[in-house]
Amino acid sequence: MSEKEKTCQTRWLKTNEISMKEYRKALEDAASLLRDGELVAFPTETVYGLGGNALDAEAAAKIYSAKGRPSDNPLIVHISYIDMLEPLVEEIPSVCRRLAFEFWPGPLTMILPKSDQVPMATTGGLDTVAVRMPAHGVALDLIDTCGLPLAAPSANRSGKPSPTRGEHVYHDLQGRIPMVLDAGAVEIGLESTIIDLSRPEPVILRPGKITYDDLKPFVPRLKEYHHPSGREIERPKAPGMKYTHYAPEGTMIMLPLHVEDDFFRALESKEKTAILASTEKIARWRRFCPDVTWIALGAEDDLDSLAHNLFHALRQCDLLDMETIYIESFSEDGLGEALMNRIRKASSCPLLIEKQ
Ligand code: AMP
Ligand code: MG
Repeated sequence: MSEKEKTCQTRWLKTNEISMKEYRKALEDAASLLRDGELVAFPTETVYGLGGNALDAEAAAKIYSAKGRPSDNPLIVHISYIDMLEPLVEEIPSVCRRLAFEFWPGPLTMILPKSDQVPMATTGGLDTVAVRMPAHGVALDLIDTCGLPLAAPSANRSGKPSPTRGEHVYHDLQGRIPMVLDAGAVEIGLESTIIDLSRPEPVILRPGKITYDDLKPFVPRLKEYHHPSGREIERPKAPGMKYTHYAPEGTMIMLPLHVEDDFFRALESKEKTAILASTEKIARWRRFCPDVTWIALGAEDDLDSLAHNLFHALRQCDLLDMETIYIESFSEDGLGEALMNRIRKASSCPLLIEKQ
């Protein structure tokens, strides 16, 4: 970013390395920026969010501009207690109350018809609004302190993997926003599950840590767009779904479930090539191909770790200027559905390894 494009100094504050008194002061500073229509990045349990006052069209416009995001891609509004929901929506259906009680604070975003108080700038021109209550102490403290619902998309530059650590946010947005609250690595590392409750038959628009099976008992008419295989079986009509995300700079290719040694022979002494895989696969595969860069995502059966490490690994590939990135395919069970959904979105040509 050139000096000219930088609009402000970014204060990067590590909330785990300060006293309670300093933390409260930081929250006050952040809250006063937000009340003035400025932006503050903060951690949630899913990924870091770039927050602005959800009721202020100008703050929403600043979010789009800081991210370089198309302004018809709607923002998720974050709240810290249930009474904050009422003014944002036309009405609260009973299924929404039930899901909120069961899964909030947590990685579930619900879409409902919006009230007049929420500007179209926040919802990307839609008459619905996406809302969630994040399960992270700093996010909840910040929203409590400023008393505002915060529109907060992932705090990355548009097209980059979502940020899972404070330094990812600083790397993407320094000079563009006044403050980053950094509480270290987030817990989950993939974005929230999105359920659209604005239609007669609710649908899952984005898979996440909370799965179809988790939601189904509370939403009898629930439809899913995502087949258990993780592949979309029908394209959602919501305008917010038309943008791709999460892509690293290099070409990313998903490996088939069973990789054969021809593949490694073809890769011999390829520079600027990375392979992202489980620790077990790396221990075996690296013996066949010493020259590529190996990046471990976690143990094969530990979906939580694989999800937690994915976006950081994609960013490492960018930092290392990797031109080609191969990635292992994982189980689609539970969180695996969301993991494979993000891997597919980041991949330029899924499952295309031609035999030579
Ligand atoms: P992010 O906050 O970066 O994880 O992205 C927010 C995503 O939420 C958008 O890209 C949309 O896919 C989705 N979203 C937010 N609001 C709505 C809405 N009103 N209708 C449909 N999708 C939405
Ligand atoms: Mg995003």
